[in-house]
Amino acid sequence: MSRYTELAERFGTPTYVYDLDQVAEARDELFSLLPEGFELFYALKANPHMDVAREMRGGDAGGCRAEISSTGELSIAIAAGFDPAECLYTGPGKTDGELDFAIAAGVRMFSVESLSDLRHVGAVAMRHNVVAKALLRINTVSGSAQTGIRMMGRPSQFGIDSETLPELMPVLTSVPGVRVAGAHFFTMSNAKDEASLLAEYEYVIEFAAQLQQEIGLPLEFLDIGGGFSSPYAVPGERAAYSKLRVELTQLLDLHLPRWRTGEIKLACESGRYLVGSSGVLLCGVVNIKESRGSKFVILDAGINVVGGLSGIGRLLPATIGVTGNDGSDVGSLVGPLCTPGDTLAKGAKIPTLSVGDVLEIPNVGAYGVTASPLGFLGRPAPTEVVVRGDEIISVSRLDYRRAYEPVEAYG
Ligand SMILES: *Cc1c(COP(=O)(O)O)cnc(C)c1O
Repeated sequence: MSRYTELAERFGTPTYVYDLDQVAEARDELFSLLPEGFELFYALKANPHMDVAREMRGGDAGGCRAEISSTGELSIAIAAGFDPAECLYTGPGKTDGELDFAIAAGVRMFSVESLSDLRHVGAVAMRHNVVAKALLRINTVSGSAQTGIRMMGRPSQFGIDSETLPELMPVLTSVPGVRVAGAHFFTMSNAKDEASLLAEYEYVIEFAAQLQQEIGLPLEFLDIGGGFSSPYAVPGERAAYSKLRVELTQLLDLHLPRWRTGEIKLACESGRYLVGSSGVLLCGVVNIKESRGSKFVILDAGINVVGGLSGIGRLLPATIGVTGNDGSDVGSLVGPLCTPGDTLAKGAKIPTLSVGDVLEIPNVGAYGVTASPLGFLGRPAPTEVVVRGDEIISVSRLDYRRAYEPVEAYG
């Protein structure tokens, strides 16, 4: 019996299995792809499971720092042992309550998306008698080939329009309660080919250097973004970036030589590359039916459990792929929800299946549970089993509370 069959038998389905050995492997691999001394932020939104987050702190490279965007993510990061002072707090809609909580907890570094966001962080920091550090998230011109401070990019809730920076810089650097410490770029996600990733970094590094020289952008800290790719819900390997380390080093030496002395700290960030390949979803075949010549295999896991964001076009797959698929049959893999949208693979080559079979959907360690509409149709959350090789570390299920909690302010 395979390890997964055994886990499915013991804990039922649908069940996610995350292997910490694989988390550690991806973590160490990504550090090894980056020049020495780079910081790496783990974006908790990819998988906020506490045991997974905790694993990011390990390794010879000194471990990841946490990138968080809510009180919930910050609470998990703290419980997982991350130092709040080392976290990067991001997001376009930071509320007063969240900022209060974050600064009281010791968070000091914020990525800010606008002048008003920066002022908001500063005002809350002043209430706590501290000075927060801000990285200006910059909304650049899309397309890595162009440079030039005055060029226009696309409108976005993310980042400060780069062409407004020359005029804005003196205002940004004099906001009380907050010190501009550098810049944050996050311009691409899931870049499968190394050339486009490198072209983007070249653009970002050159642009940051230009901003520093020409308009006095403070640059103690430069987060050049991420974009490291990993397959989602289909078999495959993480993308390979064999030239990244060498070429990134050359780019930095050319444009920001002071990175060598540590005067400029460099960082990258990732979610999917770090955790995507560590997770497998085990799901069971509940029923099989034929309809007008087509076969429908009905699973106990649907978009409530996996790939939920693909429904709103944010994530890739319209089709999941199962491990060991020999393509011996043709049919649709569908979930149990009462919506035709709950289709995981439509009219695809699938294995020959019977009721009770367990399927393995690989590469779902990122954007699985956290990115799926768990509450839709009221099924229980999937079980999450964390293993390290053959050893079981924890077994849990998210309590998303189907019961309604009264709101105190009412009545
Ligand atoms: C979501 C997000 C990430 C992680 O993206 P991946 O594609 O999962 O690596 C990193 N940084 C920021 C600012 C994000 O919003």
